[in-house]
Amino acid sequence: MHNNNMLRIGIDLGGTKIELAALDAHGRAVLRRREPTPQGDYAATIEAIGRLVEGAENELGATGSVGIGIPGAEAMPGGKIMNANSTWLIDQPLRQDVQTRLRRTVRLANDANCFALSEAVDGAGQGAEVVFGVILGTGVGAGIVVRQHVLSGINRIAGEWGHNPLPLLHDENLSPLPCYCGRLGCVETWLSGPGMAADHWRHGGEKLRAEEICARAAAGDAAADESLWRYERRLAKALAQVVNILDPDVIVLGGGLSNVERFYDTVPRLWLEHIFSPVVLTRLCRNVHGDSSGVRGAAWLWNEG
Ligand SMILES: [Zn+2]
Repeated sequence: MHNNNMLRIGIDLGGTKIELAALDAHGRAVLRRREPTPQGDYAATIEAIGRLVEGAENELGATGSVGIGIPGAEAMPGGKIMNANSTWLIDQPLRQDVQTRLRRTVRLANDANCFALSEAVDGAGQGAEVVFGVILGTGVGAGIVVRQHVLSGINRIAGEWGHNPLPLLHDENLSPLPCYCGRLGCVETWLSGPGMAADHWRHGGEKLRAEEICARAAAGDAAADESLWRYERRLAKALAQVVNILDPDVIVLGGGLSNVERFYDTVPRLWLEHIFSPVVLTRLCRNVHGDSSGVRGAAWLWNEG
C-alpha cells in the first residue's frame, strides 16, 4: 500500500520540547531527535523545526514528507494558529513559514488529532473505520479519524468535545467550574487530571494530584475510590454523547489518566445506560504508542500512496 522508499518525518511541537521522528515505509522509527522549544520566540521556533528536519535528512541521506502536530489549530480562513497554549504561536502563519523554511508542502494538525491518527494507523484502532482518540491529561483533547485520515472540519475544531459542557449525572448537584476557555462546566473541567483533583477536594478529600488519587484508589482508599467512581460515571456519560453522534468503532484513551486499568472495564458498562442502542459494539482501548503517538501521528499526516 505504501511507497517503499517513503520517509515520513513527524514533528511534535510541544510547549517545552520539539520532538522529531522519522518513520520508514513500515512505520518503524528510524531516527528520533528532540530539543527544547525556544520559549516565546516564534522565529527561533521556525528555525528549530527547520534545523531538526534538515539534520534528520542529512543523517538519513533521504528527503521526507513533513507533518507537524501542534497544541492548537489553524483558524480558517487564512490558517493562522489559534487555541495554542504556546502563546507565541497564536495568530502566526506557522505552516506557511515552515513551508518557506523547508521549501516544500507541509501538513499540520492538532496534537490530539495526531494522537488519534497514530492509533488508527498502527495502534489500538488499527483496522477500524472510525476512531475517536481522547487525551485525558492536564487538559482534555480529542480527534476523529475516518479510514486513516483526520477529520478536521470546516472550522478545524472537529473532535473538540473537551469544551462541550458535561451533562451532569442525575444525582449530582454541583455548580460547574469555569474553564480556561471562558465557558462553564466543560468536559475538560471534570475529566482532566486537575478536574479529577478539584472534584476530590470538593467532596471533602485531601488536595491530591490525579495520579495520587488513582494510586490511593488502587490501594483501597474509600474516598479516592468514590472519586474515581464519580469520574468513571462522568466519562461514560460524556463518551456516550460521542457514540450517539459519531458511532466510532474504537475509542482510544491517551494521556496520564489512560493508565487507570479499571476504566476499560467500568466505563463500557456504565455508558450502556446513555447510548441509544441496546447493543454497543464500540470498544474502549488503551493507546499502544504512549508518548510517541503525537510525533508518529504527525508523520502519518502524509498517509496516501
Ligand atoms: Zn472549555
